[in-house]
Amino acid sequence: MSEFPSTARVVIIGGGAVGASCLYHLAKAGWRDCVLLEKNELTAGSTWHAAGNVPTFSTSWSVMNMQRYSTELYRGLGKAVDYPMNYHVTGSIRLAHSDARMQEFQRAKGMGKSQGMELEILGLDEIKARYPFLETHDLKGALYDPNDGDIDPAQLTQALAKGARDLGAQILRFTPATGVARENNEWIVKTEKGDIRCEYVVNAAGYYAQRVGEWFKPYGGRTLPMMVMSHQYMLTDEIPELEAWSAESGHKLPLLRDVDSSYYLRQEKHGLNLGPYERNCKAHWVNPEDPMPEDFSFQLYPDDLERLEWYVEDAMARVPLLGSAGVSKVINGPIPYAPDGMPLIGPMPGVPNAFEACVFTFGIAQGGGAGKVLAEWLTEGQTEWDMWSCDPRRYTDYTDPDYCVQKGMEVYGHEYGMHFPWHEWPAGRDKKLSPNHQKILELGGVMGAYNGWERANWFAKPGDDTSEETSKTWNRAGPWEARIREECEAVRDHCGVLDLPGFSRFWIQGTGADAWLRGFCTGAIPKIGRMNLIYVADRRGRILTELSCIRLDVDNFVLITAATAQWHDGELIKNSLPAEISLRETTTERDTLIVTGPKSRDILSMISDADLSRGWLTHQWANVAGEKAFLIRVSFAGELGWEIHAENDAMPEIYAAVLEAGAKPFGMYALNSLRIEKGYRAWKGDLSTDYSMLEGGLERFVKFDKPEAFTGIAALLSEKQQGSKKRFVTLRVDAGACDAPYMSTLWHNGEIVGETTSGAWGYRVNASLALGMLRSDLSAAGTEVEVEIYGERRRAIVQTDEPSWDPQNERLRA
Ligand SMILES: Cc1cc2nc3c(=O)[nH]c(=O)nc-3n(C[C@H](O)[C@H](O)[C@H](O)COP(=O)(O)OP(=O)(O)OC[C@H]3O[C@@H](n4cnc5c(N)ncnc54)[C@H](O)[C@@H]3O)c2cc1C
Repeated sequence: MSEFPSTARVVIIGGGAVGASCLYHLAKAGWRDCVLLEKNELTAGSTWHAAGNVPTFSTSWSVMNMQRYSTELYRGLGKAVDYPMNYHVTGSIRLAHSDARMQEFQRAKGMGKSQGMELEILGLDEIKARYPFLETHDLKGALYDPNDGDIDPAQLTQALAKGARDLGAQILRFTPATGVARENNEWIVKTEKGDIRCEYVVNAAGYYAQRVGEWFKPYGGRTLPMMVMSHQYMLTDEIPELEAWSAESGHKLPLLRDVDSSYYLRQEKHGLNLGPYERNCKAHWVNPEDPMPEDFSFQLYPDDLERLEWYVEDAMARVPLLGSAGVSKVINGPIPYAPDGMPLIGPMPGVPNAFEACVFTFGIAQGGGAGKVLAEWLTEGQTEWDMWSCDPRRYTDYTDPDYCVQKGMEVYGHEYGMHFPWHEWPAGRDKKLSPNHQKILELGGVMGAYNGWERANWFAKPGDDTSEETSKTWNRAGPWEARIREECEAVRDHCGVLDLPGFSRFWIQGTGADAWLRGFCTGAIPKIGRMNLIYVADRRGRILTELSCIRLDVDNFVLITAATAQWHDGELIKNSLPAEISLRETTTERDTLIVTGPKSRDILSMISDADLSRGWLTHQWANVAGEKAFLIRVSFAGELGWEIHAENDAMPEIYAAVLEAGAKPFGMYALNSLRIEKGYRAWKGDLSTDYSMLEGGLERFVKFDKPEAFTGIAALLSEKQQGSKKRFVTLRVDAGACDAPYMSTLWHNGEIVGETTSGAWGYRVNASLALGMLRSDLSAAGTEVEVEIYGERRRAIVQTDEPSWDPQNERLRA
């Protein structure tokens, strides 16, 4: 037995599948001086009782990447670490009850193909051939995933642990972490057996992650956004018919997922395993009457089969064989849920050198990939794939316990739900309201949540169908379509106004701020009295963020960024800013209006004393409707226009005056269409760390010859010399009923040559447009490619490298 380690480079708290995978991947990356603490035996949390399904399916690009990586890792892991492994790659069949579901499958198939996986669409006969026990009469078809299967979660964890130990990492079982402290820029992780001093800490404590997270509050942390659901599966007795079929065919049945009914059914030896995600679901440990116990190692909740009745009956109708067997065992265990059902992997918000790899609902399927991602965060400070969908900083301060419970229950009850572009999930709403919220509702605003902030997506007229049900479509057409067109036309021909609460604002002031900013961003910074966009790259030259930079004085700036980027960009700035330069955030104190369109000058001149002759990209303080406001002459909609920034108290007056003067309210859907016509990129869609600044077509924001060295310059210089493999392009698409969603595959002569990053109908140019990344040799204007939109390949033409609308920016500068 080795001695208790008093120091380590990294301490991981939690020895489930995820913690073990983190340790293994750190050790593989050469960080061997790492320790994992497990309070009980490895797997004691959620891992030991997991069913062990390992799907690759996801409509999130990054999650699919992570799950695909897991399957690749697991195939070779037993051999790589010399540990026996029960991993059955059985393939899976995902059933569709509706055409919309088939479209979802087509999309996943396209994304899978781009990631090198051969997902297949099956007709009814093909389903029956692969799964003879199934009733297919009411189905539309299915998706077959050849990589899906199941693994023994305990063996997986032990194999990862063995691999890590063999490389020199240490695992201390029956050693709970009891707290943390910070001294001399080091962490001290406390245990009953002694303290461990370390550089980094990782919270991989599964459903205990929130408790562990509390220890970090004195060091800048927050309450970790999560809750716990009870999830069950039931195992049947052996079924002789199934045994005979397996003996004859020589394999197990593929894993079945009836996603519209919401359950999976898997062959387990010669019986079946049925696991529903029921609508009438149950949260646990979410109120004082039902506290989370100090220890729940290797324990389960009592069976609650009544809750599953509908699902059991539905599954028996689908696979009548199921009805022939009795239930032999029920497993009812805790699963942690973040409010969007995605895990937390990455930097712990607000806390130096602390990371999270926790709150996994599918930790067995994602554990392999999660370990890789976490290890990259630690060893390189950046990840191979853009992992924003799992980044802990995607949540900010609105995730109170009630919100977490409401969202967790909603996600669990719709675990297999489709995420339509027009659909807003109803739970946990109204967390942050604009000072104009009530007025916007009166005007017909149909709202959406953006980092908790409610914004109008579109404005309905009396009689428009605004029901949730109507919004469940991939199609462009719907009650919103005519309204979006009207809103875009108002912006084109007259003037529109959009209320945008939640812009993240950072005020930077102090001697040296100018020099700091030059080194912080890749490009040039504005002159006093002007604003421009600045970008920050990572070491590989990839796009970390985009900010509006407003220069008030020599060393006095305001940086404004997307609502969702609040904590991400806030930390980026804080971590780079020298102590003598001050940083003040006013995100919640102010609101913004976009007032834009050819008549916007006339409208503002009626209600403001601002000098409206000042040019594009200028700014000024002014009086608007009797209130103090800050005006920036810029428009994300691509027309003459101003942003009006003002204190919340002042905003209702200003909004009322702008409307009174004749501006028409417009919403986020119209803004999305308008910005795509201008080729303006959106953060974490078109702008992500999946692409470099040069691939992203942002050369004009990279100043290679400035004296200040900025992060990413070496990589960008090298890319400039060698040429970029991909190029940002705008495509004009012969679309059908749907515009191209994020990550639609681009084809040329039967080869995959890129992907879209966003798409929408452009009402000013009357065409479907997509922004995307295309192989460089095909990026010349006029090249014809195909975009695969929900399975249909549609002709698309590469556009010139200028905006589709107002290519010379004359309207903006008018
Ligand atoms: C019934 C059921 C079926 C499931 N089926 C599947 C499936 O088919 N596929 C799938 O992918 N997922 C499935 N899951 C989910 C899966 O179990 C979890 O996502 C996964 O196990 C999470 O792994 P983890 O390592 O993050 O957490 P855990 O396994 O919970 O590990 C966390 C560990 O941290 C330890 N710990 C906590 N506090 C401390 C401390 N202070 N000090 C030291 N150690 C501490 C705990 O003892 C625990 O061992 C299922 C879950 C349930 C309930």
